[in-house]
Amino acid sequence: MNKLGVHALCWAGGWSEAEARTAIEGTARLGFDIIEIPALDPASIDVDFTRRLLEAHGLGVTVSLGLGINSDISNPDPDIAKAGEALLSDAVSLARDLGSTHLCGVIYSAMTKYMQPASPAGRSQCIDILGRICERAGASDMLVGLEVVNRYETNIINTAAEGVALCRAVGAANARVHLDTYHMNIEESNPEQAIIETGDLLGYFHIGESHRGYLGSGSIDFAGIFRGLNKANYQGPVTFESFSSEVVNPTLSGVLGIWRNLWSDSEDLCRHARDYCAAQIKAAAMAAEAGAD
Ligand code: MN
Repeated sequence: MNKLGVHALCWAGGWSEAEARTAIEGTARLGFDIIEIPALDPASIDVDFTRRLLEAHGLGVTVSLGLGINSDISNPDPDIAKAGEALLSDAVSLARDLGSTHLCGVIYSAMTKYMQPASPAGRSQCIDILGRICERAGASDMLVGLEVVNRYETNIINTAAEGVALCRAVGAANARVHLDTYHMNIEESNPEQAIIETGDLLGYFHIGESHRGYLGSGSIDFAGIFRGLNKANYQGPVTFESFSSEVVNPTLSGVLGIWRNLWSDSEDLCRHARDYCAAQIKAAAMAAEAGAD
């Protein structure tokens, strides 16, 4: 079965020792395999403390981030792109030192609302830089997941097909497409089919509801999503991502527009998500078996 993960922001808004304990202990207690740690500021994460805590709880880890407007590798301004490449290099080092299997997220542009399409020069520079970042990550056996997000958060890749094309343009053996149901719900005509068509290039998967709250309480057809993952023979991590004004990271909450309180009990939310994903994975496998008869 896929490894099940949860985004650290379901537990805590920052990464102080107390916050790291809350997030890692809670994730392990509920039986998840992985915690995804956001590394918007890699230097703010105490690597030794975090790694010891992960090991003590037998938990795997992945690292994600979104670039900012001052670290946007799709910006033709060479100084901004250079700052972005440096941030991504720091994130690769952090991920390696934590023992992460994946570096993923919006790592190809700023995570922001653009007011114009990407420029050809910006896109080609982005592809060059991603090639070098993949090479660095590959030296530590990490996959790099390019997260396809909706039009209000990037102008580079909004659909799975665009994610596949970007991966192919980067051309690295460890470049993968990272899909997220919250974003697919906005942009894909047929999310299940998009997952199947991404196929072997699918390397990371976020499960999020249409309003980013409790799974099953919004409008996404999760039965179709999990059947798609089954048909694509996807074996990678399935990570639950949810945000509420109850747990606030000022940078990410602002960028993602997290203004509403969709839940207040992290433990209940995450327990529900783990059970929900495990049940859906099982149901999809049974549907596939029934179909094969
Ligand atoms: Mn996501």
